[in-house]
Amino acid sequence: MTTLINPADGSAVDVVPDTPVERVAETVQTAREAFEQWREATPGERARVLLRLADLVEGDAEELTRLEVEETGKPASVFRDGELPFAVDNLRFFAGAARSLEGTGAGVLSSGYTSVLVRRPVGVVGSISPWNFPFIMAVWKAGPALAAGNAVVVKPAPATPRTTLRLAELFASAGAPDGLLQVVTGGADVGQALVTDPGVDMVSVTGSSATGRAVMRGAVDGLKRVHLELGGKAPALVFDDAELEGMAAGVVMGATYNTGQDCTAATRVYIDRSRYGDAVEALREAVSRVRPGDPWAAGSDIGPLISAAHRDRVHGFVTRSSGRVVCGGKPVDGPGFYYTPTLIADADQDSEIVQSEVFGPVLVAIPFDGEDEAVRLANATPYGLASSVWSADVSRALRVSHRLDVGVTWVNDHLPIASEAPHGGVKGSGFGKDMSQEAVQEYSVTRHLMIKHAAPRPRDSFRPA
Ligand code: NAD
Repeated sequence: MTTLINPADGSAVDVVPDTPVERVAETVQTAREAFEQWREATPGERARVLLRLADLVEGDAEELTRLEVEETGKPASVFRDGELPFAVDNLRFFAGAARSLEGTGAGVLSSGYTSVLVRRPVGVVGSISPWNFPFIMAVWKAGPALAAGNAVVVKPAPATPRTTLRLAELFASAGAPDGLLQVVTGGADVGQALVTDPGVDMVSVTGSSATGRAVMRGAVDGLKRVHLELGGKAPALVFDDAELEGMAAGVVMGATYNTGQDCTAATRVYIDRSRYGDAVEALREAVSRVRPGDPWAAGSDIGPLISAAHRDRVHGFVTRSSGRVVCGGKPVDGPGFYYTPTLIADADQDSEIVQSEVFGPVLVAIPFDGEDEAVRLANATPYGLASSVWSADVSRALRVSHRLDVGVTWVNDHLPIASEAPHGGVKGSGFGKDMSQEAVQEYSVTRHLMIKHAAPRPRDSFRPA
């Protein structure tokens, strides 16, 4: 049993049974039976089920909001008016993508043979998700895999399982075979049971880089496909021609959205030395305006951190940090696991606060001299997920973007995403893309059918002049 805690006040909100490890194999077996039926569904049939699911999710907005807000403490309006409609849009996109999943290239590739390239599902996908965006992550895991014709077993994070369980409940009435989307609950032991189960063909995980490694190790014996969306430490590069007020608003939104518990969060802001003082002051003002508060109150910008332990962890990073705390830097008094939005200036590039994923509302500012140094510092962490470049010079913004070792670069903004655009990283941030047609492709394999239609020409019968 896992007792779920509301991070906004520390109260117990629910108790969810953990799936016994020995039951995982049974769940996978049921998924395989469902897969045998679903693999025969036409793209149009798959699309209809996903469209129905999108409607059901939309109609369940109030309940999903209650569950997500109770478990994460994020502001209700952020989820109900932002993340939930986005998840619905994701599902509708995946429905469309199911109908345009094509093998590329076909024809007479060898004399006398017609080649046809066909995309087929992988089989049963085991998906493991984190606690920071529980519902959206469940949709990003299940949506593309189902669209490509797979069965899915999802294991949500132990602290936040209920919106994933609710998604599977809604899916059960969307018209797919029973058992096509199932949920197992619990921690790393249940996750490993899923990863190592011989009936699971592919493993997809969103979580920390350490978890990515553990999952990859677990998948080795079965030589399974792995899809890894891991941590991040996104830099924001502010050049001397950037408009500072807009930059500060955008970078601080990027740093504090979801209380900084976001793999793409802006965490390191590198500023041209000639504007450093003014930019730090603009950032201080913007950070000081961010209001942590009750998730159900209209004026709250951000909620608490996920747990008391995580708040202690974030505070540990801040107290040990190199650099000067410009504002914030302490837990908020009172109930719940709130932390004051924090700006630290002049940190050392090689120090922990710059190199490690803090996963809290903490932004670190560092000056740079020239484009080359900005790029070098931005690339100098183990991660490579997201980044932003702030400049009025389009050529410079593009030039710098091309030199960053990351999955995404925003220019003069930080965070926006779209269902059509692939989301994923490089280096320690893993590989594999969520969202977009690419995600659907990754949950499928290409097969080659080669059909003899005539006697092949004799070898060497055709010699270009
Ligand atoms: P986590 O790595 O602790 O846990 C993620 C999931 O993996 C949970 O369901 C957990 O129970 C499971 N797990 C943990 N150890 C496991 C093991 N050995 N074997 C199998 N499963 C295991 O991550 P978290 O704390 O829940 O989430 C925060 C992390 O997720 C951050 O590092 C963040 O950057 C990352 N994240 C990445 C993305 C992305 O798209 N790249 C998106 C959101 C979150």
